Amino acid sequence: MSSSHLVNADLHCHSTVSDGTLTPEQLAERARANGVQLWALTDHDEVGGLARARSAALSQGLAYLHGVEVSVTFADHTVHIVGLGIDPTDEALVEGLRATRGGRERRAREMSADLERIGIRGAFEGALLYVGNPDLISRTHFARYLVETGVCADTSEVFRKYLTEGKPGYVPHRWARLGDAVRWITAAGGVAVIAHPARYPFTPTEEYALFTEFKAHGGRGVEVLTGAHGAADVAKYTEMALEFDLLASRGSDFHAPDESRIDLGALPDLPGRLTPVWEALQARVQRA
Ligand code: AMP
Ligand code: MN
Ligand code: MN
Ligand code: MN
Repeated sequence: MSSSHLVNADLHCHSTVSDGTLTPEQLAERARANGVQLWALTDHDEVGGLARARSAALSQGLAYLHGVEVSVTFADHTVHIVGLGIDPTDEALVEGLRATRGGRERRAREMSADLERIGIRGAFEGALLYVGNPDLISRTHFARYLVETGVCADTSEVFRKYLTEGKPGYVPHRWARLGDAVRWITAAGGVAVIAHPARYPFTPTEEYALFTEFKAHGGRGVEVLTGAHGAADVAKYTEMALEFDLLASRGSDFHAPDESRIDLGALPDLPGRLTPVWEALQARVQRA
C-alpha cells in the first residue's frame, strides 16, 4: 500500500456478537460497498464473530485484520482498548476476555432494578430482546429498548438521562486492568490501541497518566480518527500521538445504520504526519 495514510482503513466496528445490529457478514458487505480497503471487526470483550468476519471479508476480496475492543477500568473510569491483528485463538486472550465479560448479566439486573425504582419497568427483559449474544448484554441494548418503548427519542438521550455516571440507571462496574488488556493483546500478536480518547472524562493529569502507563505496558497506538472525534479532537490527538510516539488508528466505531454518526469507511484521511497503525500490522493482514 503506497501513500499508506490515505488507505481507507476502518479498524473499529461492532456486530450482533456485541452491541451492533448487523451481522459480521452484513458488516463486511457494507464495508466493501463503502470503499473500505482494510477492515477489522472489534466487538466488545468478545472474539466470537471473527471467524465469520474473516471469511466474509476474504470472500469479498477485502483485506482484513482480526480485532477486539477490551473494556478496562482506569482511574475509576471505563476506558476501551482496541486490539488489532490479534490471534483470536490465543488462550490467555480468550481467558482474559471471558473474565472481562463476566458480571455483565448481574450488572444488567442491577441497572434494571435501579430503573424500576424510577418507574421504568421490565428493562432487563426488554434489553434481552435486543441481545444477539447472551454473554454480552450491554448498555446499548437497554438504550434500544428505552427508545423502542418511547421513554426516550434516541439512544443518546437514553445515555444522557439514564445510563451514564451519576444517572439513575448507571451501575459502576470493574472491568479488566489496563496492563492486563494490553498484555493479552500484545501476547496474542496484536497491537493495542487507545480507543476514542476524547470520550473519557479525565483531567489532563489523568489523561497523561493513561497514555504514559499504556505505553509502559506495551501499548503502541491511539485512535486519532473515530466517529466520536470532532476536528479539535483530531488536532489534539494528532499532537498526542506524535508526543507519545504512538501509531495512529482510524475506525468509525460503527454500531447500526440508524444510530451511528459515521458510516463504515466514511472517516476523513489520517493526517500525513502520523504513522498509520496498519504499517505495523502488514504481516497480520489477511487477504484472499
Ligand atoms: P457497556 O459496555 O455495556 O458499558 O456499553 C458501552 C457501549 O454503550 C459503548 O460501546 C457504546 O456503544 C454505547 N455508549 C456509551 N456511551 C454512549 C452515548 N453517550 N451515546 C450512545 N451510545 C453510547
Ligand atoms: Mn458499543
Ligand atoms: Mn468504545
Ligand atoms: Mn466500539
